[in-house]
Amino acid sequence: KSFEALHLKPELLRGVYGMGYNAPSKIQETALPTLIADPPQNMIAQSQSGTGKTACFTLAMLTRVDTTKDYPQVLCLSPTYELAIQTGEVAARMAKFCPEIRIRYAVRGEDIQRGTKLTDHVIIGTPGKVQDWSLKYHAFDLSKITVFVLDEADVMIAQQGHQDQCTRLNKHISKKTCQYMLFSATYDKKVMEFAEYIVPSPITIRL
Ligand code: AMP
Repeated sequence: KSFEALHLKPELLRGVYGMGYNAPSKIQETALPTLIADPPQNMIAQSQSGTGKTACFTLAMLTRVDTTKDYPQVLCLSPTYELAIQTGEVAARMAKFCPEIRIRYAVRGEDIQRGTKLTDHVIIGTPGKVQDWSLKYHAFDLSKITVFVLDEADVMIAQQGHQDQCTRLNKHISKKTCQYMLFSATYDKKVMEFAEYIVPSPITIRL
């Protein structure tokens, strides 16, 4: 299989080749066609680090960005600062040939002034900071999010605070108009319950 066969937008395909990838990994080949197809479908996917899952969901979320709209549409939650930065770096490199797409980190050290309305298309961050920006400062509107990514959900729920924040954020997301993508390396009962509680009518992929 080749990346061409996945029907990515040409500018994202250029981004992929810019990363030096020749062929899609198993998860990319399996999940990407479903994630970028219309109508959007929700997914719970099992994948370990090292399988190429970051490229998989960053390509899917960048595919959905509508740059004619100047507000956050994609929200990607990571359990740690480091992971959020890593994901943002992959997204930025994938989006190298989509210069109009704006990506913003919502992590410790990044601050916004009260009253700010964010005009970035993609927000990548940790749950606490995202909660502050959306629900406390109203810097963006969760009901306008059209792609909601939860990465490393198993790590996320290992911390009760993060689980509660994710659940609280999710209450403001429009189930009718948002596509969910949830990734976890492990799927014990607790993770599965959380995943199914968050993600409406998912397709489940296990590799
Ligand atoms: P991840 O599973 O997202 O942590 O990615 C693991 C590593 O695989 C990263 O260093 C990626 O740059 C690399 N990678 C992801 N997709 C591909 C691919 N299709 N071909 C070669 N390397 C890849």
